[in-house]
Amino acid sequence: MSFFKTDERLEALAEKALENCEKPFKEIDSITEYNTKKVLSAFINNSISESHFAASTGYGYNDRGRDSLEEVFAQCVGAESSLIRHNFVSGTHTLTVALFGLLRPGDTMLCLTGRPYDTLIGVLGIDGESDGSLKDFKINYEQVDLKADGTPDMLAIEQALKQKNYKMAYIQRSKGYSLRPSLSVEKIGEMAALVKKLSPKTIVLVDNCYGEFVEKTEPVEVGCDIMAGSLIKNAGGGIASTGGYIAGKKELVEKCSYRLTAPGVGAEVGASLGHTRELYMGLFSAPHVVGEALKTAVFAAALFKSLGYKVSPEVDAKRTDIIQTIELGNPESLIDFCRGIQSGSPIDSFAAPEPSEMPGYDCDIIMAAGAFTLGSSIELSADAPLREPFAVFLQGGLNFHSAKVGVMLAAQKMLENGRCNI
Ligand SMILES: *Cc1c(COP(=O)(O)O)cnc(C)c1O
Repeated sequence: MSFFKTDERLEALAEKALENCEKPFKEIDSITEYNTKKVLSAFINNSISESHFAASTGYGYNDRGRDSLEEVFAQCVGAESSLIRHNFVSGTHTLTVALFGLLRPGDTMLCLTGRPYDTLIGVLGIDGESDGSLKDFKINYEQVDLKADGTPDMLAIEQALKQKNYKMAYIQRSKGYSLRPSLSVEKIGEMAALVKKLSPKTIVLVDNCYGEFVEKTEPVEVGCDIMAGSLIKNAGGGIASTGGYIAGKKELVEKCSYRLTAPGVGAEVGASLGHTRELYMGLFSAPHVVGEALKTAVFAAALFKSLGYKVSPEVDAKRTDIIQTIELGNPESLIDFCRGIQSGSPIDSFAAPEPSEMPGYDCDIIMAAGAFTLGSSIELSADAPLREPFAVFLQGGLNFHSAKVGVMLAAQKMLENGRCNI
């Protein structure tokens, strides 16, 4: 019995595409297995038991489950110390806590990866006035633009670091809404080494969003000092219903904790309210779920490549995040693609995404998301700014088999409406 209507020619194309996925799927499985063992051993080393799931209220003093989770998480990502909490409201908030926790008035931060992710612009205060931004607190921002091919300009970074004393070097691992390649952990390690060679005291902070558990190592294991990310992306394993993490050098994480709660109090407080179990469970599943999302991305790349579209990364490329871009060429195709994805989602499948204005963007945005957790992008989701080259950014998939349906329905919708040929 078939539950979804898809064209026979498309099914045949998908079969072939899956054959091309064999090698990358094997590689993904081996990384998933490695990271799953890394996470499992951290649980075992810390003797986690059911009693760690107990909810604390009020100030949350002596919350053993919360404190142990921070030990476990640190071990999972190769950090000295971590904060992992439901109290972080988003990835942007988590990065904001890290930036304000580490920078002081008069300091200058240098972004090594061009213009940062859209939601950080207001935090930095670099596009005009922004009340409460880093700029408002007399913290200066400078950036080294990426080269024309979208890779970091190592020479320009070296020159900048030789000229001035920077308190922080900031690296964004994932491409965000740009079409540049995401940065491998190896490349991030090279950048950190360059910073430390020229300016050992400069703090290297990494925006690690969408990168956790995609490779066998994390940025803090290759010379970066501290990193941050969201729990409704990779590190929450599709189970955490909100939250974020900061992980890295102990004294730096401590500074961030003073900004998260209050100076002098730091990580000692924060009621877990019963969220601890889902954070443990999400972390436990995260390497596997990230593997499923990666398989979804690879399959989408293979299928849409065979339909004639430009995809990035390529099917067999080494990956460092869960994002797949597909250049669809026109707004009609973007809309059909997103509606197809939405129609194959477990939640809100009946909704038809429409492009609309979003604060901070210079064009309309269309988003497909039929998720158990609102805005979760470790669940299958697709979004796109309606501008040249009309690229869709696809990510997530809690399990490959259901996410594959979404990808197939995206192609089906485009085929039905005559946007592509087989
Ligand atoms: C998702 C993301 C963030 C944080 O975004 P939130 O929506 O606030 O969680 C920051 N940087 C990058 C590169 C991201 O992908």
